[in-house]
Amino acid sequence: MPLRQTRRTPATRGERFAVLDPATGEAFDEAPDQRPDELDAVVDQAHAAWRSWRADPAARATALLAAADAVEAAGADLAPLLTREQGKPLAESYAEIARTAARLRYFAEPAPGPRPITDGRPVRSEIRWRPLGPVAAIVPWNFPLQLASAKFAPALAAGNTVVLKPSPCTPLATRLLASVVSTALPQDVLTVVTGREPLGARLASHPGIRHVTFTGSIPTGRAVARGAAASLARVTLELGGNDAAILLEDVEVERIADRLFWAAFRNCGQVCMAVKRVYAPARLYSQVVEALAQRAKTVAVGPGLDPDSRLGPVNNAPQLARVERCTAGALADGARAAAGGHRLDRPGYFFAPTILADVPPDSPVVTEEQFGPVLPVLPYRSLDEAVERANDTGFGLGGSVWGTDLDRAEAVADRLECGTAWINHHAELSLAQPFAGIKESGVGVAGGPWGLYGNLRPFVVHRPDEA
Ligand code: NAD
Repeated sequence: MPLRQTRRTPATRGERFAVLDPATGEAFDEAPDQRPDELDAVVDQAHAAWRSWRADPAARATALLAAADAVEAAGADLAPLLTREQGKPLAESYAEIARTAARLRYFAEPAPGPRPITDGRPVRSEIRWRPLGPVAAIVPWNFPLQLASAKFAPALAAGNTVVLKPSPCTPLATRLLASVVSTALPQDVLTVVTGREPLGARLASHPGIRHVTFTGSIPTGRAVARGAAASLARVTLELGGNDAAILLEDVEVERIADRLFWAAFRNCGQVCMAVKRVYAPARLYSQVVEALAQRAKTVAVGPGLDPDSRLGPVNNAPQLARVERCTAGALADGARAAAGGHRLDRPGYFFAPTILADVPPDSPVVTEEQFGPVLPVLPYRSLDEAVERANDTGFGLGGSVWGTDLDRAEAVADRLECGTAWINHHAELSLAQPFAGIKESGVGVAGGPWGLYGNLRPFVVHRPDEA
């Protein structure tokens, strides 16, 4: 079926570009299409605003708390707009806004104070944590608000100013969020820029930026790292994943099937740490495939603004094409669609929730990140084989192990090569935990105190210990 909308990014009209509703494939609004050369003034202003913003940690904490309150109060405006441009069900938009406010509250603490260095030498030396300067935050379209706040909340708390660039697929809710948050901030402390490439590339390589914090795909992450090499700015990269879920012999399939299904299909599978491959013991294989397929066939798919929808559309046409290509490739390789396997014949970017069985292990839907509502289920014969196949990838974001004997499950989880491993669930993150993909899934550590220190630099003062 030909795609109704095949543009990589929305079309420009003058200095604005169209924003599309993925539930219809039609434009419903537009956003400023800023040119890369506009960034010089934006970064200069962010630098000027930094001078006073960095000076008063207590005022920053107060401002972030007020910003969190303002975000919550604006939920009824933000949520429908987020759903309209992103596609997710309205309830998920409200949940994303709640997490955005929670992130601001979590980081609303004064930055760490001086810390003495004690090494027995007759020197009184101490570390004084200092902010870095203007931070560039570049985020994707799957959780535009939550991922933006995961960057700007710690950066602002640490005393930096932020220039935030959302995806051209989701500029509007981000612009509204920034205007809401900015009611609690001095001018130019948080600025949003929107536009098509090379706006992001220019921001990542801008000489006035001291930290580039990026979330997105691995190829773009490499480009960002290359760009930031020009100014040698600090780089934090949160990149793609291909998380495996290993089911153990003692798993109770019906007991975990709902949780496993939603760990793969929430936000239409467009989650960096969604379950993207399931490994099931050969004895339970048919039962697992059936349990997941039954849920995929019956889940309510529709526009996110329809209160009955549990799954919305894929966010954009190129992403839909990628999901379609991965699925068609697997079917051509001999896989069987136990549920779905095709686009839905309706306007917008809808794809039928798909469970793939009998998939060759080297099929792209297994080896690459499908990032959509498609889940391959693979059988294994020995646990060593399952762990080896789960780890046999360049990705290293998350993974999970599912079973009844929790000690045994934890011993298997301990063997996973990734940043976070879960037992009997997947992708649940605490605000207080470090978040760090390994291998090609990331560089640097976000989340918790590590996220704050990622936006600070140590400044050490040595003073002789003499009268
Ligand atoms: P993407 O890499 O295409 O785009 C991400 C952002 O980078 C967008 O704002 C985009 O406009 C911008 N961009 C594009 N080209 C650029 C360039 N040359 N220089 C600088 N910026 C540029 O990713 P996407 O398709 O928007 O998002 C999906 C990807 O994001 C998936 O791979 C997913 O796994 C990943 N992701 C990772 C995490 C994580 O925390 N690890 C979280 C969410 C999404």
